[in-house]
Order: sequence, then structure tokens, then C-alpha cells
Amino acid sequence: MLGSFMGNSHFEDKFKELPGSKSTKTFFSLGFDAASLHALVVEVCAAPQLREVFNRTVTFLKPSILEKARYHAFVTLMIKRNLAKFNETMGFQISHSNKQKVKPFFRPKNDDNDGTINGSVKGIELSPPDVAGYDSWLVKHPSALNSFDSIMKEAKGKKVVVFLDYDGTLSPIVEDPNKAFMSAEMRAAVREVAKYFPTSIISGRSRDKVKQFVQLSNVYYAGSHGMDIMAPPRAVTSCDKKGNEGAFQPAKLFLPAIQEISVVLVDKIRGIQGARIEDNRFCISVHYRQVPPEDHEILKEKVKSLVENRPEFRLTEGKMVLEVRPSIDWNKGDALNYLLDTLGFSNAKDVLPLYIGDDRTDEDAFKVIAARREGFPIIVSSTPKDTIAWYSLRDPPEVLAFLLRLAKWRKSEIPFFK
Ligand SMILES: [Mg+2]
Repeated sequence: MLGSFMGNSHFEDKFKELPGSKSTKTFFSLGFDAASLHALVVEVCAAPQLREVFNRTVTFLKPSILEKARYHAFVTLMIKRNLAKFNETMGFQISHSNKQKVKPFFRPKNDDNDGTINGSVKGIELSPPDVAGYDSWLVKHPSALNSFDSIMKEAKGKKVVVFLDYDGTLSPIVEDPNKAFMSAEMRAAVREVAKYFPTSIISGRSRDKVKQFVQLSNVYYAGSHGMDIMAPPRAVTSCDKKGNEGAFQPAKLFLPAIQEISVVLVDKIRGIQGARIEDNRFCISVHYRQVPPEDHEILKEKVKSLVENRPEFRLTEGKMVLEVRPSIDWNKGDALNYLLDTLGFSNAKDVLPLYIGDDRTDEDAFKVIAARREGFPIIVSSTPKDTIAWYSLRDPPEVLAFLLRLAKWRKSEIPFFK
């Protein structure tokens, strides 16, 4: 099927309409087949100046999200090999590519097969920030803002369900985790989005804490990386006649042990200046953003040694934070599935989950969406980062812009649903 565009006269005619285009044959002679060429156009046209071409291309090809995902790795390779030739042939100028040398993509230092440690996806943030590297990373993970129209084309007539991380997504990352407040504008945008789409916030914080920050009553909250979910009553099925209105807490049995280890942890790191423990109910966070760099390893060793002989716990690492979590096979991806299920969407074919998050724990949710082959995993990052998300947003202000646009899009769609 993928090669079926080859020799397709409609494709040929349409491609000729693209600005500066000569003929698809020119591109085939460069080593492209039709599918990879199309995918290349889609990816390259994430650059704002090429968006018009992108829109015109997808109008007749209607690429599925699945196709885009399948071609990601291949397309990236093709872009790296052929971008210069492609631009030259098309007569395109991509300003950042002309000015800056594109560096190779970074790889995680310890890249294992499935990218997980103890079942949790890891991602290594790259440093120092590299503008040229970010631009080439954007080719692989296009801006969700620049790709908004094509994303929404996929969403038309389907049920979009929104999932949001909190820290670094809705709020800026700050020195003091107790002061990670979201702006009034962001709150208004989330409230607006939640008016039109079922919206859940899945955070590593305790459910109560994230609710205090967000202060909205029309969203669902999942705290402790999804181990504490206040969901709507479970959809009544033939197997489950009882509604479940309470919180879903798969790690409830671990609570006494978590409280115990929390006390030991406080004692263990007492001497380390700037270390801060946050009790997230079903996981304990040790923040070290304010710890002098020379003490980071000492702190990590202390926390690691505490967990080492306790198989009921595992240690994960986030942005300047270590997290002691119960050893249960449950993460943000499971929380996403649970929420879809309780919302009555588990078997629905027309549901598109949209997940926006910035941390490595969010990769578990991205993975679930990728496996569903429908939906939009969107990473928030201003630096190149190893991720399986398909789209990206640079920072919370871009998340705000995306959410506002999403609500506006839905409003404009309402007459069609009546
Ligand atoms: Mg986060």
C-alpha cells in the first residue's frame, strides 16, 4: 500500500502544484519513494515557512498518524541524508538550516532495548542547550502549534480526551517545589479546555497538592504518578454493575511501608543542605535542585542505599528529583488507560487521547498512546530530548497557546456536531 502512490497520476499532478516543485520523478531519482517523499514533506514542512505546502499535501494524501509514526525513524534518516538536495530541488530556504550546522541527534548514555528502568521510561535531558540541535530535533518532533491544523484534521468528528502533566507543563519549574504555581491565564485555559473535552491532570505530586495548585472542579486528578486517581464513576458494564465513586489507589497496601520509609529517608538525608523531601502519599520525592552540585552524588547514594535492600520499593529519577515508589507495575500510562476506561472510552474506536507532559515519567503515557496508534503524545521541552512523543511544545507558554487554540477549535466545531 505504501508504494501505491508510485506512478499515481493524481499524486504526480498534485505534487506539481507545490511551489518550486519540478516533478516527483526528480525526487525519486534522489532515492525517495513516494511514501518517504510524502513523509519527508510532512516533517520538513513543520517549519513555518513550509506549512502551506504541508497543508496542501495532507489535503489529498490524508496521512494517518500511524503512517507518520511508522516513518519517523526512516524519515529522519532521509532528511539527514537528503535535506540539502530536497531544499535545493524545491527551491526552499530554511533559515535556521542555512545559518546553523545541524548536529547529529544525541542518544541516551545507557540506551537499553525498551528504554526503561524498573518499568519506568527514562529519558536523558541533553545539555548544554543547543539551538541547532533543537532545530533538527524539531524535525523529528514537530511543534504541535505549527502542526495544529493537521492534528485537528485527524481529530475532526472524534472524541478528544485531554491529559496534562502539571510541573513543567502547566507550571514553570521553580527552585522551590512548593511554589510551582500555575498562572491565572493557564488556569483559565485549562478550565476552557475542560468545558469541551474530558480533561485529566496526571502528576507525580500528591493528588491533594496538585488539586490545590490547579483549583479547578471540572477536571479529574491523578496524583502520585497515577497511583491515586479520583475518576468519574466507572462506566457500568455487564461485568461491573457497581459504580466506583471513590479514589482508585492501586498501591494502597503499600501506604504503611511508604510512611515508614519516609521517616527513615528524612533522617538519612538530614545533613545534606538544600535537600527537600516531599510526601506525595504514594511516592516520596527527594528534590535536590537546591543542593550544591558537589553533594548530588552523595545524596543519590544515600537514597539508593536505602531502597537497595527493599524490593517493595524502586527508585526513579526526574528533573532534579529522586522518587521512591512502590514496586508495582503501574505508571502514568496505566493511569491514562484507567481514566479512558472509567470515562467509558476503553473500547471506543473514535477516541483520540492527547497527552502533554515534560518529564520522563510521561513517556509511559506516550508509550500507551503510541501503542493505541491513535492520539497525540506531545512532549514539552526546550532542549533536544530522547522521547517517543510525536509532537512537541517548547515550554508552558506554548502549552497555554496550544490549549487556547484547542478550545477555540472545539468552539468553532460545535455547529457541526448539532
Ligand atoms: Mg512534569
